[in-house]
Amino acid sequence: MMTSANTKRLHVAICGAGIGGLTFALALSRYTDIDIDIYESARALTEVGAGIGIFPRPWKIIKMLGLEADLLKVTETKVVDGPVSAFRYRKSDQYEGIEFYTLITQGSLMLFHRADYQQTLLNHLPKRCRTHCLKRLRSYAQRQSGPIELLFEDGTTASCDLLIGADGVKSAVRAGVLGEKAQWVRSEGRQEEALEILQHVEPVWSGTNAYRALIPVQKLKTIAPNHRVLNTPGVQYLGKQGYIIAYRISGGKLINFVAFVVKHHLENTQFNGPWMSTVDNSAFSSIFAHWEPEVQALIACVEKPMQWAIHTVRPMQSFVSGRVALLGDAAHSMTPHQGSGAGQAIEDACILATVLGHPSTNRTNIARALRVYDSIRCPFAYRVMEVSRINGRYFTLQLDEAAGAMDLDKLPPKQQWDNLQQLGSRIVKNWEWTWTTSIDTTLQEALRMLESIA
Ligand SMILES: Cc1cc2nc3c(=O)[nH]c(=O)nc-3n(C[C@H](O)[C@H](O)[C@H](O)COP(=O)(O)OP(=O)(O)OC[C@H]3O[C@@H](n4cnc5c(N)ncnc54)[C@H](O)[C@@H]3O)c2cc1C
Repeated sequence: MMTSANTKRLHVAICGAGIGGLTFALALSRYTDIDIDIYESARALTEVGAGIGIFPRPWKIIKMLGLEADLLKVTETKVVDGPVSAFRYRKSDQYEGIEFYTLITQGSLMLFHRADYQQTLLNHLPKRCRTHCLKRLRSYAQRQSGPIELLFEDGTTASCDLLIGADGVKSAVRAGVLGEKAQWVRSEGRQEEALEILQHVEPVWSGTNAYRALIPVQKLKTIAPNHRVLNTPGVQYLGKQGYIIAYRISGGKLINFVAFVVKHHLENTQFNGPWMSTVDNSAFSSIFAHWEPEVQALIACVEKPMQWAIHTVRPMQSFVSGRVALLGDAAHSMTPHQGSGAGQAIEDACILATVLGHPSTNRTNIARALRVYDSIRCPFAYRVMEVSRINGRYFTLQLDEAAGAMDLDKLPPKQQWDNLQQLGSRIVKNWEWTWTTSIDTTLQEALRMLESIA
């Protein structure tokens, strides 16, 4: 039996030490009267070799957490508050690509190596946040009152006042939360509703596979010294069957490369095969074989990419059950077409830590704080999930989902250009929320709600 400290205001267990779990732990650690244990299934805390982009809303949280100065040491991206060019869009599924739009964001999209971001979080995490590796949660049990009991795959147990499931897309905590809800509605004779609830336990395939690799900048320079990716913040190469995103990270030493192969008609089906595996370029390169030469140059630099079958969580009614709450991908795993999954996990972390850390929250009224978290974060995250899904359509040249991919190649040049312009402005419109809304307003709303509930 693992010990649990009981002398503090609250004892919180976090299941999963990814970006969501660690950011939450750091945000909560500002309240020194809250005890924190982090349980992680992996042997050590590591991140995948890939890049990550953070938009202005979550960046503000990173600033509040005191991470900005250290993160600026590991990126080339400069913090700009006003308009800044983030991505250039090209129609690339032809020999001569067409550059048709630039995504101008209000405030920088900050670009990092994931490992650098995670290391910065770990460097800031106080020692009193106890991290336990090789602890895979199997299940939990909660009653009306008393501690929540945690059971790990190795047979050990632990307890806490509050459990946060930050355990990613295959979340064991989500299975527990939904199991509890299903049991409750079944006890009221609502069998069909129980079955519907349980449909949300297993993630579904988005129909998209991502092929990720890190390319040394020097390698690309050798074969294509004037390549656009070497002197542009970020480029997206679009076509009907997929798209490629490329941007520099690690102080300009590496290029984050992701090729997406998209089969929209297979959305919400089951993927047959491992969700993550190392493959050869042949697993994706044929889709891009006829694309413009600068795409070929990038692919020529890719070695042993990781294939990720992108899975999402079907939207649930709530992230909370009793004194258990979900956060990050466990709650709202989304497609990566808006580069916002981690950003949303960071927002969850910030709002949840704020309501739990509030001086009025204690063991007897945890449900009140979780209600505020749920009512703010659940609808917001699912809206982001939907706009991300729509971006996936735009990035494969679909102006209108019902009409499918535009056959731009059959249009006269003027009409083709007009359609691409329309696509560009829809992409920007779809993304506007990241800079027209502010986390400050959301935080104020959370505090106002908390203080208004008795
Ligand atoms: C190709 C691609 C590109 C992306 N680009 C961006 C981007 O640019 N910007 C952005 O904001 N987001 C991006 N995302 C999304 C982002 O990566 C995720 O949303 C984010 O990493 C989720 O973090 P998390 O902590 O919720 O989950 P995870 O990172 O999955 O962490 C979950 C942790 O829980 C652990 N765990 C799992 N099960 C258990 C268990 N039973 N017990 C204990 N521990 C457990 C795991 O080992 C892991 O450490 C991208 C995603 C993909 C696939």
